[in-house]
Amino acid sequence: MTTMTAGAVVVSVLNATYQPLGATKLKRAMALVLSGQAVIEEADPVRKVRHAGGEFPWPLVIRLLRYVKAPVQYGDAIWSKSGVLKRDGHICIYCDGRADTIDHILPQSRGGKNEWLNTAAACQPCNSRKANRTPEEAGMPLLFTPSIPQRIYISAGKPKKPKKRKNK
Ligand SMILES: [Zn+2]
Repeated sequence: MTTMTAGAVVVSVLNATYQPLGATKLKRAMALVLSGQAVIEEADPVRKVRHAGGEFPWPLVIRLLRYVKAPVQYGDAIWSKSGVLKRDGHICIYCDGRADTIDHILPQSRGGKNEWLNTAAACQPCNSRKANRTPEEAGMPLLFTPSIPQRIYISAGKPKKPKKRKNK
């Protein structure tokens, strides 16, 4: 199971230099295009996006107009608790319920690190039940395998507050 919601459409993103950066969701891609931060490099010849009463080309590939430092956007995301919850869609790795905490698969007390592959979203009851045990010891098998997300994915859905800087 992946964290992408069913039917989520993914659009390829290029840097200003045409270097591939990764992918983002259609909604985010449209927001970038409509706000003038990106242009559509390749559009679907058939489908159109309906947005704000208008019809727009359906982007398959967009290109950012401003160069972003590739390491910031591309490559493995930096580990964070919120990133783990986002990667796992707030789904508990043990019971498939709603998760608001993260669990260290190999507990921290046993040397488990704050790393993508060692952490997963978990609900409070499962987290408490597992305690300082491995999934095997606790008899709590993982329902999915943790993965290392790309930076662009972790930053893609974040509701970014636009910086209100008047002087450009
Ligand atoms: Zn749970």
